[in-house]
Amino acid sequence: MRVGVIGSGPAGLMAAEVVASAGHDVTVFEQHRSPGRKLLLAGRSGLNLTHSEPLQRLLERYGPDRPNLESAVRGFDADAVQRWCRGLGEPILVGSSGRIFPESMRATPLLRAWLARLEDLGVELRLRHRWTGWQGPELCFDVDGRRVEFEPDATVVACGGPSWPRVGGDGSWRAAFEAVGVSIAPFVAANCGIEIAWSAPMLERHEGTPIKNVAVSAGAGAAQRGDVVVTAAGLEGGPVYALSRQLRASGSPSVEIDLLPDLKRAAVVERLAKRRKGANQTAWLRTTGLAPAAISLLRDATGNALPNEPQDMAQLIKAAALPVTGLGSLDRAISSGGGICFDQVDDHLMLRSRPGVFVAGEMLDWEAPTGGYLLQACLSTGVAAAHGALAWHRDA
Ligand SMILES: Cc1cc2nc3c(=O)[nH]c(=O)nc-3n(C[C@H](O)[C@H](O)[C@H](O)COP(=O)(O)OP(=O)(O)OC[C@H]3O[C@@H](n4cnc5c(N)ncnc54)[C@H](O)[C@@H]3O)c2cc1C
Repeated sequence: MRVGVIGSGPAGLMAAEVVASAGHDVTVFEQHRSPGRKLLLAGRSGLNLTHSEPLQRLLERYGPDRPNLESAVRGFDADAVQRWCRGLGEPILVGSSGRIFPESMRATPLLRAWLARLEDLGVELRLRHRWTGWQGPELCFDVDGRRVEFEPDATVVACGGPSWPRVGGDGSWRAAFEAVGVSIAPFVAANCGIEIAWSAPMLERHEGTPIKNVAVSAGAGAAQRGDVVVTAAGLEGGPVYALSRQLRASGSPSVEIDLLPDLKRAAVVERLAKRRKGANQTAWLRTTGLAPAAISLLRDATGNALPNEPQDMAQLIKAAALPVTGLGSLDRAISSGGGICFDQVDDHLMLRSRPGVFVAGEMLDWEAPTGGYLLQACLSTGVAAAHGALAWHRDA
């Protein structure tokens, strides 16, 4: 069988590996000059491949998308991801939070070993090939303004979502699918920052500063623990990323930040009760262990009208409300929601309207929080789409 894989991200390369390992001819097409660029970007901040928690818990992380992803994730689960990573010569490191990384933390050695394996399997990689759609059974590519066609027996499309278009896809593949009647859910930013109208003093002093160990919540949802970073636009970081789906759905106009989540309110009051005579509010707040950026955040949350009573101040420290003026942009989001609707594909991720064409990775309509769940689902759906293509070929 001759298989065309479009996209050299983790989903596409995994599909290529599985199909080529079964002895078939595979050609991977990539629009950029080099493969796996978003994977490399992901590796810059520590490549979190998956998570070590029990499978049931891991599956729950996909929320409402669990039913659509469960079979693929079970078929290539977190243990399989770790075996695969070790097989590429990269030992596994389990972080304190249970997150799984390659020991080097980076994507570069992993991708290098992966590409070498694919080359050994005879996979051909064609770079600077931008897929533009179908002409009958043929895949059409734009190669520096020249049109190139390729007729495969089966195709795996893994063009990714439109976040960080500089290193990945820009979502323009949607036109090719819509032209053949495939429904696409609108793209939305996922795992993105939140926009907050900081005061000028806050930005002058603290732009780029992390505020460590906070708990952020929105509405009635669970608080998310971790570090946040003050940016010109608002806040970035794991806890706010985890709330993006909820904030988008509820339109919740504010987040609440607990700046001392390890202390009960009474313990904060106790610390505040020991205010030294004559100490200004900043000195007073520092006795609680708050960092300067956290103190400035409290000033912004109150319009610089900090309370003077320990009880009121403790209440503020445990639940500082900040109005959210918007969600971070799609092009800077860690991932995207929206994409090819699951009712457009069968259980093997084959397009119902186009037999022989399979879809994998982030271009499908699902979302997951950070923590390794994104790459886990991309690798799993890559494997599932490849098995789908192999089964389809066997049955043909
Ligand atoms: C800064 C950052 C950090 C991240 N860190 C993590 C992390 O630690 N853990 C985690 O789980 N996830 C992380 N992610 C998310 C993860 O990188 C993505 O979910 C994953 O790369 C998506 O894989 P994919 O194969 O579906 O798509 P992509 O990796 O986006 O690959 C798709 C490929 O298809 C190509 N393509 C698109 N359109 C065309 C076309 N028309 N013709 C030809 N080629 C095309 C693109 O150029 C691209 O190379 C991070 C993302 C970012 C931006």
